[in-house]
Amino acid sequence: MKYISTRGNAPELGFEDVLLTGLASDGGLYVPKQLPHYPLHEIRSWRELPYHELAFKVVQPFVAGAIPDDVLKVMLQETYQGFAHTAVAPLTQLDHNEYVLELFQGPTLAFKDFALQLFGRLLDYVLEKRGERVVIMGATSGDTGSAAIEGCKRCQNVDIFILHPHNRVSEVQRRQMSTVISDNIFNIAVEGNFDDCQQMVKQSFGDQSFLKDERRLVAVNSINWARIMAQIVYYFYASLNLGGPDRKVAFSVPTGNFGDIFAGYLARQMGLPIEQLVIATNQNDILHRFMSQNLYKKEPLSHTLSPSMDIVVSSNFERLLFDLHDRDGASIKALMEKMSHEDVSIEVDRMAKAREIFDSFAVDDDLTCQTIKQVYQETGYLLDPHTAIGVKAAREVRRTFAVPMVTLGTAHPVKFSDAIERAGLQAPELPGHMSDLFRREERLFVLGNNLQEVQNFMAEKVFR
Ligand SMILES: *Cc1c(COP(=O)(O)O)cnc(C)c1O
Repeated sequence: MKYISTRGNAPELGFEDVLLTGLASDGGLYVPKQLPHYPLHEIRSWRELPYHELAFKVVQPFVAGAIPDDVLKVMLQETYQGFAHTAVAPLTQLDHNEYVLELFQGPTLAFKDFALQLFGRLLDYVLEKRGERVVIMGATSGDTGSAAIEGCKRCQNVDIFILHPHNRVSEVQRRQMSTVISDNIFNIAVEGNFDDCQQMVKQSFGDQSFLKDERRLVAVNSINWARIMAQIVYYFYASLNLGGPDRKVAFSVPTGNFGDIFAGYLARQMGLPIEQLVIATNQNDILHRFMSQNLYKKEPLSHTLSPSMDIVVSSNFERLLFDLHDRDGASIKALMEKMSHEDVSIEVDRMAKAREIFDSFAVDDDLTCQTIKQVYQETGYLLDPHTAIGVKAAREVRRTFAVPMVTLGTAHPVKFSDAIERAGLQAPELPGHMSDLFRREERLFVLGNNLQEVQNFMAEKVFR
């Protein structure tokens, strides 16, 4: 499989290089040159497969040429064995034709484990083969950091630096990162906000000279194609468990950076009958405003009870825009340049194409808490605030009750007890494997909001 940049002016890469790259050199994002497409009878033949075998069917074409089949099979089996539920991604029914797909059974209790547990294994294999050592650098408002650390902690050939805003992530989230103690893991608490952290990561990727040309930086955020790829699998899994592909399914996806929902779009492009994809956002609703008004307009960041969706711009949206513009890199390059300094609309017929598939809805904090409470009263089931946004959005904009509506359950409620308590409910207990989290030793480096200081620290640790 070959990968091309959405801005049309970077070299084509194979999977190995896409895995080890962040942004393309032209500032675009890598996407498969050609997506596999499956006829219904083939998808139907996957119905009986357990999760890791279905994952092999879906993932294999994307890594062909880089990861041998037998290696991939073992990797996928090991990855999903580590999940707490034997179904890996179990479905829970809330109401008539209304479901939650529980994607929080992995080690850090959020859906990012699906991709990052596999990512660590892929990275380890590729680096071992190449005899290379790399540096992972990422910024986190909570979930990405812990999932990346858990996913990559066993990698022999990486040093991991995760930046988070000091005192601005929840204690569970901080401890999920800081209690993983290893010589190659560095949690940096920056005396600034999440944007500051993200800015430092961006600048470091842009100019990596602080690593003396001896190491390269690898991205773990959802601009990395390997993450999107792993997330396609559970759309197939949910559909096949609900009568697909002979019955359509709809999905509602709590989204920030448009990574998770883009994976759903890809599943549909690959032949899975999906009736509707609901873009569910919090107050940071740039995607909802774009879909409803055809205006891409940045607004200041709001801090919400669903912090993993607190974004100003939505980086993976570029991948959808690329398809909506008939995969013309030059148009995307022009569009993205325009977007960086003014508000943007797209042609009406392109927007119409998007609206055939996508609907959207924005849910504020009050409505999020009301939904958590309402669903708990109706069913006894406790939603985390991100998932609650998905459920609420689905209830508002679903097109038909004849098709099952599946909301992606992106996190376990224990990670976001603030919202649960504000909904007037009792926060749940930590699951068994984490019950001693508050007693574990922590390792954390507090640094100033200063790029130089952070880069000096990293160089010192990398060349220790
Ligand atoms: C990361 C995250 C999201 C948003 O995912 P995107 O890929 O940015 O759309 C939603 N919910 C939770 C709990 C997350 O951790």
